Amino acid sequence: MRSKLEPFESLVSALEAMPGIGSKSALKLAYHIVTDKKFEAIKLAHAIENAVESIRRCTKCNNLSQDELCYICSDDLRDKTKLCIVQSAKDIFTIEKVGLYNGLYYVINDIEDFDLNHLKNALKGVKEVIFAFAPSVASDTMILYIESQLEGMDLIFSKIAQGVPTGISLDSVDTLSLAKALEDRVNL
Ligand SMILES: [Zn+2]
Repeated sequence: MRSKLEPFESLVSALEAMPGIGSKSALKLAYHIVTDKKFEAIKLAHAIENAVESIRRCTKCNNLSQDELCYICSDDLRDKTKLCIVQSAKDIFTIEKVGLYNGLYYVINDIEDFDLNHLKNALKGVKEVIFAFAPSVASDTMILYIESQLEGMDLIFSKIAQGVPTGISLDSVDTLSLAKALEDRVNL
């Protein structure tokens, strides 16, 4: 049987499908949207559409970008001898917010879609590779694997210092701890 409030219900389920939004919050949010936040909601809908349509991956580093190359890869003032490997483009926002790192980035979402030649291309002119992975056994395995694949390329490898707690993502780490972990990075 078709519900009488079908548009409302599909809004609730669309919200519920988003990470971090449970069924209670989805209902609360949907109610808010259709009752007292109509104008903001339309603005949000436009912003979502616009972002989804215009954001893609940087062809060099996999960061989010509006153009073929992201604003970091196309910035001449960045230190192109350093490349920081992260597990999510979200981590770039986190590290950029700290403001102490001026090198390049490379995003490897997971080992399955890791493309060695693509990474090697991004490493042209790079002397130091910094792994900014949230510490875990899985990320240590991935670091070892990538490092072994890049053997003989005359690179210095380092990773962010412990102090970033094990098992949580970088966006949950406070700015100060992350700044310190980057500064105190350890050579591998
Ligand atoms: Zn880029």
